[in-house]
Amino acid sequence: MDSKSVEAFHENINQLERDLKLQASSKAEAHKAADRKGKRKTGHRLLYPDSFLFRHWGADLSEEEQTLAQNLFLNYGYNVYLSDQLPLDRPLNDTRSPSCKRKTYPKDLPTLSVVLIFMNEALSIILRAVTSVINRTPSHLLKEIILVDDYSSNDDLKGPLEMHIQNYNAKHPGLIKIIRHQKREGLTQARISGWEASTADVVAILDAHIEVNTAWAEPILSRLKEDRTVIISPVFDKIGFDDFGLNQYSVAADGFDWALWCLYEPLPAEWYALKDDTAPVRSPSIMGILAADRKFLGEIGVLDSGMHIYGGENVELAVRAWQCGGKVEVLPCSRIAHVERAHKPYLMDLTIAMKRNALRVAEVWMDDYKYMVYVAWNLPVENHGIDFGDVSSRKELRKKLNCKGFDWYIKNVYPGLIFLPNIVGYGTMRNTLKEDLCVDQGAVPGHTPIVYPCHAYSSQLIFYQTSGEMFVGGLYARRSNVERCLTDPGNGDLPVLEKCDTAVNKGLNMHWDFKQGSAIINRSTKRCLEITAPNPSSYRLVMQTCTGQRWHIQHTLKGWGKTKDLEQKTQPPKH
Ligand code: UDP
Ligand code: MN
Repeated sequence: MDSKSVEAFHENINQLERDLKLQASSKAEAHKAADRKGKRKTGHRLLYPDSFLFRHWGADLSEEEQTLAQNLFLNYGYNVYLSDQLPLDRPLNDTRSPSCKRKTYPKDLPTLSVVLIFMNEALSIILRAVTSVINRTPSHLLKEIILVDDYSSNDDLKGPLEMHIQNYNAKHPGLIKIIRHQKREGLTQARISGWEASTADVVAILDAHIEVNTAWAEPILSRLKEDRTVIISPVFDKIGFDDFGLNQYSVAADGFDWALWCLYEPLPAEWYALKDDTAPVRSPSIMGILAADRKFLGEIGVLDSGMHIYGGENVELAVRAWQCGGKVEVLPCSRIAHVERAHKPYLMDLTIAMKRNALRVAEVWMDDYKYMVYVAWNLPVENHGIDFGDVSSRKELRKKLNCKGFDWYIKNVYPGLIFLPNIVGYGTMRNTLKEDLCVDQGAVPGHTPIVYPCHAYSSQLIFYQTSGEMFVGGLYARRSNVERCLTDPGNGDLPVLEKCDTAVNKGLNMHWDFKQGSAIINRSTKRCLEITAPNPSSYRLVMQTCTGQRWHIQHTLKGWGKTKDLEQKTQPPKH
């Protein structure tokens, strides 16, 4: 760690302590509110001890109330039972830094359209979002709130929601509009529909389970007045899906891994150097929620309407913005509280949509780096069998906008995303003597890899590089290297997993000769990774003198292991 990141690290720890205190106080408040309402009844049997809803909440509900709350929770992924009791205009802790609170903004800022998209969200949740936008946005700047219903089936989102819209509009004429999809189109298309309907200078496209916090809009509007080419992310705070307490999150940049799952990145050193914690944070990506100049967003192609249901659209926008002449920033003074659901009621398995959408991004934007996405999803680069739809119009858009390549992006915007050009084999690793067993990282915490019935989840994913390093148990590809490398301690009969940078620093025996269908031989000790069967039902993964056992890795890249030349070089030694 250099001194800048040590500083950042300590700042993060301090922030974490502040977060925890804040979280504790908001939880205490939620409990007090429940007490006041007389809802805490003692001595009831807990009906759903395994439900996430009741881990930290609701122990005092009657059995009837528990059943009601649990059913609502299963339907929505958050605590609708509690949401329905909380006021729509509930106060929120102002989570901004003191310097944000001191900032003043000009009155004449661009106007704002707020888009809230939803698919079967709870009515009280949507109304609380609308109320927070009305109460916490300067009214002379808020041109409209556009609700986009992505074909919800819940009855209360029909007539009853219309009634509420009429009531709002009676007070604020024409403020609230609603657009309804005639079929499920997914969140990307819902965001696009909202953008299409918007008419203000700036558009903020938000989830419906949010509450905007104090003065959230002013930083966005003034930043876009300065520079119309920024795609903006506010800072999210977490609303607990169970107790609806507010948990303050630290300011961070948004990034992603090679599977395109989003993650938080540490703040860049240049940002700390500014010594201004209100300054925009240059960010490789966004999490999903965004604000932008309405027309600029249109000029660069809004969002990729070919995305299905969930995921990937945020990375596509961010990468496109950067590569095509825009930028992406997180604004520390703009804060939005967002309910983090316990589960997504609309999808059991997010990975199917995510994987497909990720391949679209790879195909259109990632050039020579795209195979990293295939590696991360453990898919073969060819014949992967996944139909990611037609990307020709997105490729045309890239051409028309004369965008830079991913090489430029990774070097200039996201050097923290590590490219591993030397991976030649990846996926599960099986021994030809026992093909239903796979190398597996074994118990965690723990350092001893094993063989285990194949399931191909991340604990069984192996990455073999031409350098001879063999990662076991998932690929992270971050600057803060957490991959574990296979090593041979040189004594005993067990292989050992060590964090790869530790293995390098300690000079462990971490390099292996391997080619498809051949032995796995440690380059230093010359011992082989093999299996033994002390009895026919239990196999062990061991280091021993090579007996000629052979291994197969699931996928290979770049014709590796197929050339005669390589085969000859890595013949196992004869004993
Ligand atoms: N959503 C939608 N159509 C869908 C799935 C989701 O309009 O098919 C909406 C959903 O109601 C929410 C937003 O898209 O307001 C984002 O979804 P979610 O909050 O589940 O995703 P996350 O916050 O995890 O990104
Ligand atoms: Mn959400």
